[in-house]
Amino acid sequence: MTRPLAIGVDVGTSGIRALAIDDKGAIHAQATRSMPAPMGTDGRQEQSPTIWWDTLLDTLGALTRTLPADHQPRALALDGTSGSLLLAGRDGRALGPALMYADQRASTEAAHIAELAPAESGAHGPSSALAKLLWLLRHQPPPPGFRALHQADWLLACLGAPLGTSDENNALKLGYDPVNRHWPEWLARLGIPPEALPEPRIPGTPVGTLNPSLAHTLGLPAGLTLVAGTTDGVAAFIATGANTPGEGVTSLGSTLVLKQLCSHPIFQAEAGIYSHRLGDLWLAGGASNSGGAVLRAHFDDDEIARCTQALRPEEPTALDYYPLLRPGERFPIADPGLPPRLTPRPADTCRFFQGMLEGMAEIERQGYVRLREAGGEPLISVRSVGGGAINTGWTRIRAAHLGVPLLDPHHQDAAYGAALLARRVL
Ligand code: ADP
Repeated sequence: MTRPLAIGVDVGTSGIRALAIDDKGAIHAQATRSMPAPMGTDGRQEQSPTIWWDTLLDTLGALTRTLPADHQPRALALDGTSGSLLLAGRDGRALGPALMYADQRASTEAAHIAELAPAESGAHGPSSALAKLLWLLRHQPPPPGFRALHQADWLLACLGAPLGTSDENNALKLGYDPVNRHWPEWLARLGIPPEALPEPRIPGTPVGTLNPSLAHTLGLPAGLTLVAGTTDGVAAFIATGANTPGEGVTSLGSTLVLKQLCSHPIFQAEAGIYSHRLGDLWLAGGASNSGGAVLRAHFDDDEIARCTQALRPEEPTALDYYPLLRPGERFPIADPGLPPRLTPRPADTCRFFQGMLEGMAEIERQGYVRLREAGGEPLISVRSVGGGAINTGWTRIRAAHLGVPLLDPHHQDAAYGAALLARRVL
């Protein structure tokens, strides 16, 4: 008898990763393929959707070649970079390159959105999918019948889902109201035709079937169920195994990003706090401008490695830093003029390094307090992901600041989170 598998695909900035898990969550095959990074200068960040599609086919082909013979994939879900958007024609063909999440050109459009959108909307800011849609409508007017699609939506349609299928998580930054589960009426006042908007489905629910000729080409079974996916950030959260209100996940990457499961949504636009709908729960989050990028600006890799070894978590430096690259913070302190605080600098480089880590641990503590004040449950545990999570000395410093257990994430891979969504239909 063949055992069913669920495939999860993570479409990242520089590559695509796919893995297949069984009903118990065990991984049976995985494949990764890199792709050229988005291009552009002066705030422009574009990528050709053809690159995504070719890389996806390549990745899925490699995955199927390593599948065990007695296992058969039955479902597939994918996540994409949140806020990346393209326009497609009636036939689903991309009308041009996609505007990637980091594209910053839509500032006029963001100001326009700010006049109409309620404070709690996820569509604020120049990096939102909605700002990008307005920018595209103005600069590259599409023919009638066009569709606005997120990265994950377009790829799902290429695989065989009905054109215009999305999910509630990707749709958040396009202005979708996850509380009332509809596209709000103010979108029409921005000149967006309602029929151009995709249909947001609940992540983890079936939305279609893999195109039979693709199934044949890729060596995947006919009838494989396509499942509504999510954003990269939500997929990475799901992968950690956090599933109870009050559980937090801190991403220690270039920036410091906090996420916490809550039993109800929290929105606070001025502090950059917004919530994704996740089944019956909500995933609230906020991002600080502090994080690993500040470390990189002051230390090279050798110094980071040396000073990580030299950490003395039980001997706090009391330097009371607020590490930032430049003035301005959004969360946990909403102050566009907040200056970095990185003085006095001790003669010992590694004391300076420890002071910075302590400063970020304090920002993390304040962040979770902020989420609690905004209406979240009391924090019960924190799982850590991202480049800084390997630093066990920092983990001890953070545990002392946070006062809750720091747990190991089950998985760090967003593709695993997408696979867990696909597994729901096995
Ligand atoms: P990104 O957000 O760019 O994907 P990563 O998750 O790859 O980031 O993490 C990279 C960051 O991790 C870098 O900014 C670096 O400062 C930080 N980092 C790497 N090693 C350590 C360490 N030992 N201690 C603290 N931070 C570290």
